[in-house]
Amino acid sequence: MSSPRDVRAFVALELAPEVRRAIGELIASLRPRVPGARWVRPDGVHLTLRFLGDTPPARIDQLRLALAGAASACEPFEAHLSALGTFPGPGKPPRVLWLGIQVPPPGLALQAACERAAVAAGFPPEGRPFRGHLTLARFRERVLRPALPPADLGAVRLEILTLLRSDLRPGGAVYTPIDRFPLGGAE
Ligand code: ATP
Ligand code: MG
Repeated sequence: MSSPRDVRAFVALELAPEVRRAIGELIASLRPRVPGARWVRPDGVHLTLRFLGDTPPARIDQLRLALAGAASACEPFEAHLSALGTFPGPGKPPRVLWLGIQVPPPGLALQAACERAAVAAGFPPEGRPFRGHLTLARFRERVLRPALPPADLGAVRLEILTLLRSDLRPGGAVYTPIDRFPLGGAE
C-alpha cells in the first residue's frame, strides 16, 4: 500500500563531477548517431545499486542505519567505464541505452549489502541479477537497435553511497539526495 507521504527512493553510487562531464561529452557525440533517444541530464547520472520505489518515511530511517553500516564497511574502489549497450538485449526493441561499468568485488559486496538492507527494511527481494550500468538514454518510441560505437571512459573512483528520492516529472525524473554515506566511513 502506498501513502502520500511515501517517497520514490533508490540507492546509488555517486559519480565525480569530471566523470559526469565526460559522460556529457559522450552523450553529445552519440546524439546524432542515435535517433529517437531521450537523453538523460549528465548531472544526474549515477550507478543505481538498488531501486526501492515507494518508500514510507519509517523505512527511510531504517535504511539509513543499514546503508551507513554497509558504506563504512566498504573502502572506496575503482571501476572501469566502457561499452555501450541496450536493454533488453539484441532482437528486441531497445528501451534503455547504457554505458557499462565493470564493478569489482568490493562494489559487488556493497551492492549485495544494499540488497540485504532493502530486504531487512521490508522491501521484496530484487529478482534480477545486478548488471552495473549507467543509463544514458531511454526510447519512448519503437526504434531499431542503434549501431553503437566503442566507448571507453577509463577507470573512475567511487566513494559515496547515496540514498536518493526521485520525483517523476514530464521533463524527466528529478533526483534529490536524502542522505549520503562516504565509503570507508571517511568524510
Ligand atoms: P523515468 O522513469 O522518468 O524514465 P528514471 O528511470 O531516471 O526516470 P526512476 O524510475 O525513479 O527514474 O529510477 C531511479 C533510478 O533507479 C534510475 O537509475 C533507474 O534506472 C533505476 N530503476 C528504476 N526502476 C528500476 C527497476 N525496476 N530495477 C532496477 N533499477 C531501476
Ligand atoms: Mg524509471
